[in-house]
Amino acid sequence: MYNFAGIIINNEVASLDRIFTYEIPEELKESIKVGQLVKVPFGNSNKRLYGFVFDLKLENQGKIKLKKIASIESDEPLITDKDMQLIENMKKKYLCTYIECIRLIIPTGIMKGMKPKTTDVVFLNGSLPDNLKKDKYESIYKIVEQNNGMYNRSQLSKKFNISVSSINTMIKYGALTISEKVLTRYDSRVYDVYGEKKLNDFQEDAVNTILYSNKRKFLIHGVTGSGKTEIYMHLVKKMIEDNKQSIILVPEISLTPQMIERFKGRFGLNVAVFHSKLSDGERYDEWIRVKNGEVKVAVGARSALFLPFDKLGLIVIDEEHEGSYKSESDPKYNAIEVAEMKSAIEDCILVLGSATPAVETYYKTLKEDYDLITLKNRADGALMPEVSVVDMREELRENNKSIFSRALYESILETLERKEQIILFLNRRGYSTFVSCRKCGYVFKCKNCDVSMTYHNNKGYLICHYCGSTQRIPSVCPKCGSKYVKYFGAGTERIEREIKRLFPNARTVRMDRDTTVKKDSYERIYNGFKNKEYDILIGTQMIAKGLDFKDVTLVGVVAADLTLNLPDYRAGERTFQLLCQVSGRAGRGSKKGKVVIQTYSPESYAIRFSSTNDYRSFFKEEIKLRHDMDYPPFNKLLLLNFSSKNEQLLIKNIQIVGDFLKNKAKEYSNIYVLGPCPSPISKINEAYRWQIVLKGDITYEVACFIKKSIYELLKKVYNNIRVSLDINPLSLL
Ligand code: ADP
Ligand code: ZN
Ligand code: ZN
Repeated sequence: MYNFAGIIINNEVASLDRIFTYEIPEELKESIKVGQLVKVPFGNSNKRLYGFVFDLKLENQGKIKLKKIASIESDEPLITDKDMQLIENMKKKYLCTYIECIRLIIPTGIMKGMKPKTTDVVFLNGSLPDNLKKDKYESIYKIVEQNNGMYNRSQLSKKFNISVSSINTMIKYGALTISEKVLTRYDSRVYDVYGEKKLNDFQEDAVNTILYSNKRKFLIHGVTGSGKTEIYMHLVKKMIEDNKQSIILVPEISLTPQMIERFKGRFGLNVAVFHSKLSDGERYDEWIRVKNGEVKVAVGARSALFLPFDKLGLIVIDEEHEGSYKSESDPKYNAIEVAEMKSAIEDCILVLGSATPAVETYYKTLKEDYDLITLKNRADGALMPEVSVVDMREELRENNKSIFSRALYESILETLERKEQIILFLNRRGYSTFVSCRKCGYVFKCKNCDVSMTYHNNKGYLICHYCGSTQRIPSVCPKCGSKYVKYFGAGTERIEREIKRLFPNARTVRMDRDTTVKKDSYERIYNGFKNKEYDILIGTQMIAKGLDFKDVTLVGVVAADLTLNLPDYRAGERTFQLLCQVSGRAGRGSKKGKVVIQTYSPESYAIRFSSTNDYRSFFKEEIKLRHDMDYPPFNKLLLLNFSSKNEQLLIKNIQIVGDFLKNKAKEYSNIYVLGPCPSPISKINEAYRWQIVLKGDITYEVACFIKKSIYELLKKVYNNIRVSLDINPLSLL
């Protein structure tokens, strides 16, 4: 039996991020286990805090008198040995704290002492005694007989219009009784069966390769509609047969009713659905169900990765290139990296799937870290759409100043006449914008960083948000001398207005962040469009993925340049991905689809290769560029984001940190310090934002050193300046 325990305290203060030693009182020595939830006295006031048993020891070195653990709060360990390994790995990778990791693994409800929800339902108990042999009681008796144990008193009263006092009378005389029943807060509805499909040869090969080769990590590169989801489902089925469990991650936004219907329709109550929009109670219940071994497969957003499965056999990450796999709050983990750690710890299969894999991921298949499986054709025989790229400079020359090219206008007209549906797509993000020449397509880019410079409306100059260099906007284009140098303006609302003006009879609906703030608005718009209540859906990147509408035969990309010129080294990759994804929306049914892409830079490789759906060629260009510019996967980036309501204080202190880091960087030949400069989103919630970007061989030791140094340098102002570190951020916005 052990005498001492290392405890992780449930408290987010960074200085408490260590293991505290406590004495185990005699009466707890037999029952205490690693991973259990406990309560311990803490601090001067000995306030009781929750903590987790990290390890158990016979002896304690150092301090003589220790505080004692107050109580054990969970019968079983909530964190397993494997979780502990994962936490150690994550701490190294993301410089996060123990408790931040633990909070990913354990739902908040548990640390608030949540219990399963119960209610006192009414049952028949005995026969009706003589004194109650009246019509009133006899009819209540019948009702309860037919609904035995289904409702509590007030539910019975409401549903069948009977008085609670009559029920109480019947309980008093022993005709009825009440008993506690656990309520299910998770979705326990029965779904329509989603039948298994016979796999085609390509799918069959993929399944066999994944199950029977000695490799563990796979990338399925399959065009949209190639039947990847069906492959995942067959893998899950095999896991169930082998008594193993699976996790299927999908991007939050693809967690559509359609996706859930498919999995629940095939695997029924063996499925748990897990994502950030669940209530604490729903989360708790799903988590407990997994812990109790009632769940065979979890479908969910990145948080589902941490569900407490005990025999995990498979992790699938669908649409692996998606940004939502990277957490934006601490710990800023990347679900793919964590899945890789988990796959190694649990020795389980990891499958990533995408029509447009992330450049980093595809690169790993070349290094033979992952096995590549390619699916070139759509599974249901649907044809790939016909894609045409329209040069908007040409439109200007022909004196067409509308936001729609003649080709797109004609196509909309024809599609409306055929009574088929249209999606118009504009990836507009309000805060940053680039400047270009409408005549020749020239875009102002930073020479050091190869990213577009951003226009600052109020100041009249351009800034590079990587290195901070600035430039006045010239009045004429440096390339062709034209005066038509402008920043990019149109948004989804403007497109909607134009459509209403040009096609007054078309029924349009808009989907973007503004129209989907209300809880069910996404579903409402989605279902409305699906049921053909609208002809045209106009939207931002929200509509680019996951949607599967059979009657959409035209997709228009109003301005591909918006993504192409994001101030981000991934702009090219994002453009390629988005264009392929939106194109995948056209012609999912038996009708052939058409895609029109409008742009001022039709020669850009991202646009050229997306129009022919040629991932390999795109990848070759992109990886060369990454190599030349020292961007990932060839180097790491570390984004240091500083924010404060006091702009002066912020600028002064970030300069101090910047000077310090630049000085230090001289000792390393391979680390570059970019900035400090204002973040592309320069103000959020009243707080100003500045950033420093480090590029190079940033090891764990280097990152730790930087974190510590910043803490030292900003010690006095730490309450007024927030600093966040992000290793390999997905974007530098
Ligand atoms: P992906 O996930 O690659 O986009 P899906 O799995 O959603 O593709 O499949 C696209 C469509 O093809 C779906 O409607 C699906 O039902 C259908 N499908 C998939 N596999 C088969 C198959 N083996 N036979 C017939 N239809 C299939
Ligand atoms: Zn020009
Ligand atoms: Zn720059």
